[in-house]
Amino acid sequence: MSFLDKLFKKKESVESAAKETVSNAAKAVDKAAAAAADLGEKVMHPLEMADLGELLPGAPSGGKINLAIYWAAACGGCDVSILDVNERILTVGDMANIVMWPVAADGKEKDIAAMEDGDITVSIISGAIRNTENEHMVKLLRQKSKIVVAYGTCACFGGSPALANLVPDGKDDILNYVYTKTPTSANFQADYHKDKPVIPQTSYKAPEGELTLPVLFDTVKTLDQVIDVDYYVPGCPPQQETISQMLKAVADFAYAGVALPPKGTTIGITTKTMCDECPRKKANARIDKFLDPYQVNVEEGKCLMDQGILCLGPSTIGGCGAKCTKAGQPCRGCYGPTAEVQEQGASMFTAVASLMPILDDDPIIDEEKIIKLVSEIKDPLGYFYAFTMGKALIKKAVKETGGQ
Ligand code: SF4
Ligand code: SF4
Ligand code: SF4
Repeated sequence: MSFLDKLFKKKESVESAAKETVSNAAKAVDKAAAAAADLGEKVMHPLEMADLGELLPGAPSGGKINLAIYWAAACGGCDVSILDVNERILTVGDMANIVMWPVAADGKEKDIAAMEDGDITVSIISGAIRNTENEHMVKLLRQKSKIVVAYGTCACFGGSPALANLVPDGKDDILNYVYTKTPTSANFQADYHKDKPVIPQTSYKAPEGELTLPVLFDTVKTLDQVIDVDYYVPGCPPQQETISQMLKAVADFAYAGVALPPKGTTIGITTKTMCDECPRKKANARIDKFLDPYQVNVEEGKCLMDQGILCLGPSTIGGCGAKCTKAGQPCRGCYGPTAEVQEQGASMFTAVASLMPILDDDPIIDEEKIIKLVSEIKDPLGYFYAFTMGKALIKKAVKETGGQ
């Protein structure tokens, strides 16, 4: 029995409770209409669970909508996060035919290709665009879908897959390293292909026919660098509150024809920074050393930056409810930059530089001291651009070749 079959079986056992919830759902739709009327700006109310009702009242009167959920270069965390609405995921079964969801349901590329353009009401796509298969599938889903949602930070900003853009020689360097240099692959090549290391080929002619693999791109792209995107849901993965808001917007649209938010809306963010959401008190202390969280006995209530821990709160958009800093861990910036800055990484460099003890202690601090301090930051590019390299102005790393 598939995972979804089990979920839908559980649904049958609570079917009798559904009658009572019809009126709840109707009230929820009314509330949604009022909320939708508020939506003058392109953000949706974050930090609150949307009231989906316990169950929705069967299929929409116009019939179920078609829903596709697809992962491109993704870790699967975004797919799992969709289940964070718990039993309310059953409302998805009431509302929609899931025509594709590679991690949880069947649905083949050829079935999607056979659909009419616009037959899919909503495609929720996670992951960055890393290879030819990702590109083909998202273009196909765009063609067949009325609405496309970039779901999760990899789809919105490139996420961790886009850190590969920092490898100067791109895919060839990456494939070479992974298949010949890591200890296990180096041992394998030494044992079986000593004369000529073998790395996966994108095409192989077997007697039965040609076998192909997707081709990696040199540059990892965000979803909207490849197709037109209607809505954005950031987070690595998005938070439960945000997911419920997204599902509610879709349910209100499918059941009651409530207008969707304006195209381009980012769901689940605030208009302020993570620091505004964080309960820790900031004294803007000068930074004279950088520490990892494990090196610090983290004090309750005190800003982590003030304790020497590099926290990306100042350059990150609010919306997650400061999940990490409340737990004593620094914000790594997974919700992406604020509206005021394009470059989250550069914005963070500036924030850190402003906290260096340059003016207080030594107005003519020498370059060596600054270099020593900054060199304590392990992998600064990787740290400051951990989630947003796909959108960074620094598109790629290049090798210095003696001034060439
Ligand atoms: S955004 Fe995070 S959880 Fe989602 S696919 Fe990317 S790495 Fe995984
Ligand atoms: S801990 Fe981080 S998010 Fe919280 S106030 Fe300090 S810098 Fe901002
Ligand atoms: S605190 Fe920062 S890293 Fe943690 S979930 Fe929120 S935005 Fe992401």
